[in-house]
Amino acid sequence: MSKLISKWNYPTTVRFGAGRIKELPEVLAATGIKRPLFVTDPGLAKLPVVASTLKILDDAKVPYGVFSEVRPNPVESNLTAGIAVFKKGKHDGVIAFGGGSALDLGKLIAFQAGQTRPVWDFEDVGDWWTRANSDAIAPIIAVPTTAGTGSEVGRAGVITNEETHTKKVIFHPKLLPAIVIADPELSVGMPGFITAGTGMDALAHCLEAYCAPGYHPMADGIAVEGIRLVFENLPKAFANGKDLVARAHMMSAAAMGATAFQKGLGAIHSLSHPVGALYDTHHGMTNAVFMPYVLAFNRDSIEERIARLAAYCGIKGGFDGFAKAIIKLRKELKVPHALPGLIKGLDMDKKRKALIADMAVVDPTAGGNPVKLTKKAALTLLENAIAGT
Ligand code: NAD
Repeated sequence: MSKLISKWNYPTTVRFGAGRIKELPEVLAATGIKRPLFVTDPGLAKLPVVASTLKILDDAKVPYGVFSEVRPNPVESNLTAGIAVFKKGKHDGVIAFGGGSALDLGKLIAFQAGQTRPVWDFEDVGDWWTRANSDAIAPIIAVPTTAGTGSEVGRAGVITNEETHTKKVIFHPKLLPAIVIADPELSVGMPGFITAGTGMDALAHCLEAYCAPGYHPMADGIAVEGIRLVFENLPKAFANGKDLVARAHMMSAAAMGATAFQKGLGAIHSLSHPVGALYDTHHGMTNAVFMPYVLAFNRDSIEERIARLAAYCGIKGGFDGFAKAIIKLRKELKVPHALPGLIKGLDMDKKRKALIADMAVVDPTAGGNPVKLTKKAALTLLENAIAGT
């Protein structure tokens, strides 16, 4: 019994359901935000989904500003530019609207605008977050338009350090949005590649959390149901983007993945982070490529767990059945089986492979892998993912 020690944190208030974006003015009032900065990305900014949301703010006569210089896998210059707009407009809170990139950057603007230390001083390492001035963090409302990262219910923001080519996770409890509007109608416009990639990201979060060592039965329960939801609904959302029921279940699965991964992540993410930082690949798609190789590598320590999971999801054949189901799901979603399918013209020399393996073993997620991720293992996993074997 003495090992049953844990720490559990649960997410923010979520207003879930189709059409609930109309409640944005009410949500602003509830959080006390009077002059929000609306943060989104340039692709979304051109879509009707942003225009119709801004109309809700116009109709309610909310004085707001818009910042949309957020590239996928956001970088520090996006953050610096966003903070300048936040300060110039005398904003008092952020509406982070979009996929993980816009959500993370919006959250980080609200966090970093009032800090004096560089953002890198708040990396998710030990208690570095305690260095922040908590009173200077502006409130955040998060509105996801993809269904994968779960950033809307998370206390972290991911940002790439362009100097070191590393993806850094910035952590603070107050990066947790005050209120989330999870409206699946906002996600129906996602193209197939993004639907597949983000959905596989939700699966990777649930799967790695479930396999991470440690006592966290609540995270395990959430992860298992999240995985079932992905198997049942991701192919439907991919086949018919307008299937609102499938979109809604995927939005739940995404939030569940990020809730569950407070238990830990693993080698899928440890490898995906350096590859994403060096090749600017889509995060969820990169996770999807690495998934079967990491699953096979961890087999000995997770076989029984995965067999239980497979039974819950109605998948026959224990561990092997589950591994096959992952391959089948990837095929259905047109996920490349190997890295060259994701990164055109990929030609990695020995030095580059060694660099990725080095980065993987020091990634903060590596500690959550059920089998120790050594440099040799990371190198083998990378080579497997390149060769597709
Ligand atoms: P994204 O935010 O980068 O968006 C990808 C593309 O999809 C963009 O071009 C965007 O314009 C488009 N898009 C988004 N919603 C759309 C919609 N409804 N209709 C049409 N197009 C739409 O993708 P993502 O996968 O959601 O986020 C990835 C980022 O999140 C990465 O930077 C990753 O590192 C980060 N991440 C963060 C966490 C966390 O806990 N904070 C977890 C996982 C990943």
